Amino acid sequence: MTPVTPADAAAHERWPDDLLDVTALRAAGRAHPLPFREFVVKVHSRCNLACTYCYVYEAADQLWRRQPHTMSRHTAERLCHRIAEHAARHRPASIRVILHGGEPLLAGTSLLRGLTRTLRELLPAGTRAEVVIQTNGTLLDDAVLRLCHEEDIRIAVSLDGTPRTHDRARRDAAGRGTHARVAAALRRLAAPEHREVWAGLLCTVDVTADPLLTYEHLLSYDPPAIRLLLPLGNWTTRPPGRTADPTAVPYGHWLATVFDTWYRAPGPPVRIAFFESILDLLLGGVTRTETIGGAPSQLAVVDTDGALTLSDQLKSAYEGADRSGLDIHRHSFDALLGHPGVVARQLAAEGLAAQCRDCPVGAVCGGGHYPHRYRADNGYLNPSVYCPDLMALIRHVAQAVRTDLAAASRAGGARP
Ligand code: SF4
Repeated sequence: MTPVTPADAAAHERWPDDLLDVTALRAAGRAHPLPFREFVVKVHSRCNLACTYCYVYEAADQLWRRQPHTMSRHTAERLCHRIAEHAARHRPASIRVILHGGEPLLAGTSLLRGLTRTLRELLPAGTRAEVVIQTNGTLLDDAVLRLCHEEDIRIAVSLDGTPRTHDRARRDAAGRGTHARVAAALRRLAAPEHREVWAGLLCTVDVTADPLLTYEHLLSYDPPAIRLLLPLGNWTTRPPGRTADPTAVPYGHWLATVFDTWYRAPGPPVRIAFFESILDLLLGGVTRTETIGGAPSQLAVVDTDGALTLSDQLKSAYEGADRSGLDIHRHSFDALLGHPGVVARQLAAEGLAAQCRDCPVGAVCGGGHYPHRYRADNGYLNPSVYCPDLMALIRHVAQAVRTDLAAASRAGGARP
């Protein structure tokens, strides 16, 4: 693929905004809106760290500079009403609300407590809200732990691996590594009295780091779950180490190495949704994560000023890529369901590039994570920029499953 600079891109029509006719699709019965089940709430739009790969502050989009630092109480209350309105209309048994930033703990425990309480008070009977704080872990203190226990909120913490790996990217504004502070927070969360409020670790893969050292370091905190994330990047702005050479699969090798150790571990392994989803999809099940499998997206993001956005991770593409023009003060979440950027992510095969529709592992990969498909000249109707890595990993996992099934079948046949 020939890279096109963002400056050239204005001359091109891009998927989905310029090319997807939502009205025609719906009239033809080819697009059925699915209600949102996951709400990412930006309670604070600044951060106390300056991580090198941050998609909010270090990527193409600098619109955060115009956002209020903290979500106001009025906006938080309005948001709760909008989520409750959406739940009353669509009656989900559960929703997930992720308190996010920036660094959400900068918003203060009072706002987080008020928002959580109001939301649960307003939700219709029969809809349960799981609330999670996604934090960098450096501000975890007694007050935050008390909040989580009292309000039934869980905490997910970002940790990229060993001190050397983590501190390469995750530094504070003065350039100091943050591993020691995060490790102290994790030791508190791992203690028996707090473990129930710990949701797990979020690790952005550093392909230059040793995969086993990284995995073993993460495991040393005994987390309940690990979420592995590939760095944000796309065909125009490539992720680190993901060259144009389709025979090079650095991320595929990295993930396959971790997979082998995880898969062969004695006893119940730590939950890794990325691997579990590939296994489930290979065996005819469904994905548990939006990063693999191509399930329709049911995620909405709300900024500190109440703007309804498509996904904050689209900020990695170009400035304004996540904007919908809608906000919770004037619009419902149902209005966002009609936006081409949401409809495109809820289409099944029709929302995939031809190469993905014809792909031998397409039913498992599903085109990978949506932000990774972007190319400046045509938008998001492309395979993932990680396509060679995903294909290599899925084939590796499939081979492991085939080998085990064959062994189980031989063992079964040998039984008297
Ligand atoms: S492996 Fe590549 S071609 Fe196949 S579905 Fe994934 S991104 Fe598309």
